[in-house]
Amino acid sequence: MKREGLILILSAPSGAGKTSLCRELFKTFPDIKESVSYTTRAPRPAEIEGQAYHFVSNEEFEKMVAEDAFAEWAFVHGNMYGTALSTLEEARKNGIDLILDIDCQGALKLKEQFDGGVYVFIMPPSMGELRRRLEGRSSDAQEIIERRILRAAEEIKEARWYDYIIINDDFSIACRELAAILIAHRRKTFRMLEKVGKLFDI
Ligand code: 5GP
Repeated sequence: MKREGLILILSAPSGAGKTSLCRELFKTFPDIKESVSYTTRAPRPAEIEGQAYHFVSNEEFEKMVAEDAFAEWAFVHGNMYGTALSTLEEARKNGIDLILDIDCQGALKLKEQFDGGVYVFIMPPSMGELRRRLEGRSSDAQEIIERRILRAAEEIKEARWYDYIIINDDFSIACRELAAILIAHRRKTFRMLEKVGKLFDI
């Protein structure tokens, strides 16, 4: 029996520390893969096609929507973002554990339509701390920060339907909590049977 890949979905408001947590997770577990989404937003200077995203035109994206090629998709900050169904199916079939960094709307659509994902919401310890972190990123204009804070307050309400919540107060504790969730799901009996079957006659 082939081991089924794990689909781990992470969502967080901007400033909660999701990117840093993901980076640590990939360092600790080099065999996990990041799902590469499709987006209509323009690539940022250092972004390479096929690494961070597949960058596509509105027409190409809409064609994929019409062909039911997406497991989920959503409008985020005025652009369209979507996860291809084939990305999830291939990872699952090939026993690859996949991390999806998607927004709450997309995560909810996926939860309704796709069985078996594990949903993790990462939140800041308080709205005050979130503000402090966003203001600490000196490059952002005050108006953008205010908009992010309002949006974060809305997104945090969505945390209730996720499977797990991590409060990113102490970064190293949050890293361990995320790793614990991954490990626990990797050790589910149905994911261990392929390996155990090779070691023992069960
Ligand atoms: P950015 O443009 O900064 O890379 O990402 C903006 C937002 O889009 C992030 O909150 C990220 O979680 C979300 N996002 C990235 N890929 C997807 C996707 O495939 N589906 C959905 N629903 N959201 C995504």
